[in-house]
Amino acid sequence: MTLNLRCRDYGFECDFSINEEITKEIVKKLRDHFDEEHGIDYTIEAVLQMISNRGHSLESIK
Ligand SMILES: [Zn+2]
Repeated sequence: MTLNLRCRDYGFECDFSINEEITKEIVKKLRDHFDEEHGIDYTIEAVLQMISNRGHSLESIK
C-alpha cells in the first residue's frame, strides 16, 4: 500500500511529501523529518497513529 502524505496536511508550512510504499523505513524517515525540520520529537507510535488516522492500513509494516 502506498502512503501519500504531505506535511502540509498536518498544518506545517512545509513542502515535504511522501508517496511511497509504507515500510518501517518510511516511518523512520517521517519521524526524522518532523524532528529535524520541525523540532518535534514524535514517537514511532505517534507517527504510526498519524498514518493510520489517514485511513492507511499498518499491516505491511508489522
Ligand atoms: Zn515538514
